[in-house]
Amino acid sequence: MSFRDYLSEARTIFDRLYPENQITAVDYEGPTIVVYTTNQELFSRRDDIAKQIAQEMRRRIAIRPDPSILSPEDEARAIIEQLIPESAGFKDLYFESDTGEVIIEVEEPTVITSRDSEYIIGIKEQTKWSPRIVRAPPMHSRTVKEMREFLRDVKQERKVFLHNLGEKLNIPTMPGETWVRVTALGGHREVGRSATLISTNNSKVLVDCGMMNINDVEEQPWAGAPYLYVPEIQPFSSLDAVILTHAHLDHSGLLPILYKYGYEGPVYMTPPTRDLSALLQNDYIKVAHAEGHKGPYESKHVREALKRSIVLRYNETTDITRDIRLTFYNAGHILGSASVHLHIGEGLYNVVLSGDVKFEKTWLFNPANNKFPRAETFMTESTYAGRDDYHHPRAEASNNFVDIINRTFERGGSVLVPVFAVGRSQEVMLVLEEAVRMGKIKEVPVYLDGMIMEATAIHAAYPEYLNKNLRESIMFKRENPFLSPIFQKVETKQQRQEICDSGENKIVLATSGMMSGGPVMEYFKTWVTSPENSLVFVGYQADGTMGRRIQRGMDEITLSENGRQTKFQVKMAIETSEGFSGHSDKRQLLSYIATMQPMPKKILVNHGDGEKAAEFARLIRSKFGVDTVALRNLETVRLY
Ligand SMILES: [Zn+2]
Ligand SMILES: [Zn+2]
Repeated sequence: MSFRDYLSEARTIFDRLYPENQITAVDYEGPTIVVYTTNQELFSRRDDIAKQIAQEMRRRIAIRPDPSILSPEDEARAIIEQLIPESAGFKDLYFESDTGEVIIEVEEPTVITSRDSEYIIGIKEQTKWSPRIVRAPPMHSRTVKEMREFLRDVKQERKVFLHNLGEKLNIPTMPGETWVRVTALGGHREVGRSATLISTNNSKVLVDCGMMNINDVEEQPWAGAPYLYVPEIQPFSSLDAVILTHAHLDHSGLLPILYKYGYEGPVYMTPPTRDLSALLQNDYIKVAHAEGHKGPYESKHVREALKRSIVLRYNETTDITRDIRLTFYNAGHILGSASVHLHIGEGLYNVVLSGDVKFEKTWLFNPANNKFPRAETFMTESTYAGRDDYHHPRAEASNNFVDIINRTFERGGSVLVPVFAVGRSQEVMLVLEEAVRMGKIKEVPVYLDGMIMEATAIHAAYPEYLNKNLRESIMFKRENPFLSPIFQKVETKQQRQEICDSGENKIVLATSGMMSGGPVMEYFKTWVTSPENSLVFVGYQADGTMGRRIQRGMDEITLSENGRQTKFQVKMAIETSEGFSGHSDKRQLLSYIATMQPMPKKILVNHGDGEKAAEFARLIRSKFGVDTVALRNLETVRLY
């Protein structure tokens, strides 16, 4: 058994195909083989050569400029700012030193990007950086900016990490019998704390590491965690890779504790998931502190995870272990949400995990992809797969929501909407903006409390992940709905108090979405005893959450106020507006499976409350004749 020397192999092929290559170094960067060169033509224009070699070697190849030829960043910035014509409306620029690209954000890209533009040529010649001109995002996201700065600061550390990972990926696989298993560690026959282990004779990959939404984490800090203390993944350093399907905390919330307790390997996700999950994890820590208890991890553990993050766009395939290849597909659920396709061995076996999935075009996204090259086993969520789960079409949902608001205003009340910062908030904002613009509701302030604006700005930073209509209205038209003056950000406690106390009609969107804490509770405590107000649920309320208890119609609830347990009479109207969901309802899940290509041989059902998952498994079996089970947490099945 000998190591294949991919690095010298790559160099040999370059010499053959492009003798004047001026290669200065060849190195691993995770799964990618990176070639550094002083030949500008090669790194800025010859993607075709990289592609050809990648096909020949079955490895990802990237051609990068040798850092020695690039102008220092400060110098390059000054040159570029001077070269860009005023009519382009220069906004900002940042350097991607990995690729030798400089991303230049301007208001009117067409001024510069015309063919053979003298500006592009000038920048290339004078700085050696390759300019990429993009339209400046219409909203400023602090998270996106800080993320870029952070990744630049830890560049050296990442380089070492990615080199070591690359070497590990090239260790030959173990000989002997091949097998594939799946182990349920959390989020099976329940919603929350999602964690599923895929293991083979060569590797162990954890998909998601979420937390349960519970109100009393203080008393039971581990009650919300998946079954992480199992021999299969202990110690955590024995894991080869972690994958996040999306940023919601029931999938990403406990990722940092893997790093706190010894995991040092990579975590794979889409670029928006990286930004959003860090935002939500840091917010979770902040809320925990504000409520007077220590969270299960600190922000330094969030940063440890980021240092080892590897981002992949939809439909990009990469080796994540010696015998597993990963591809993300659009899941239509929230920004950057993905279904996970794992190709195991050389054509041996394929597993698809849906993640949270929306099989319908929404106000924000395209419907989930359900066509895969191969898929022997499919694991599907079942949040709304129950007998009576039916979502109203989008148009009906928005009419219904508008009715609730108007009825509340007629009574002289205000409307409180608990939302996840990411996903439902943006859909509700789009509906409200349109309703006000069309005169369907009177123009009242819509207050956004708890990370909602920042999460919205991240959407604007990744327009390519949005559906076409929204992308165009955000990027090209003047009327960006998210920038409507009706939306007002709540930033201080005092502001919140004033909004709570004022008698005017208003709408408040506030986190957390299942009322397990966060600013929404402050408004709720003030308004709950007045029957003219309305509380409107637009998202899923899991078993055991405060949101579910209230939704079910409890007329008295106990909440802690100033450290004391206080009873509140529920007098405000409790409403549910169906149809905003980022999940598929039963009908959509069934049509996803009916039209899935190829039809899987085995289906596993997870991410559904208790009996719902088991019942849906029985339904799939009888409808499609496919072997289907809903695993219980801690169960393992052999797939191959
Ligand atoms: Zn989700
Ligand atoms: Zn979920």
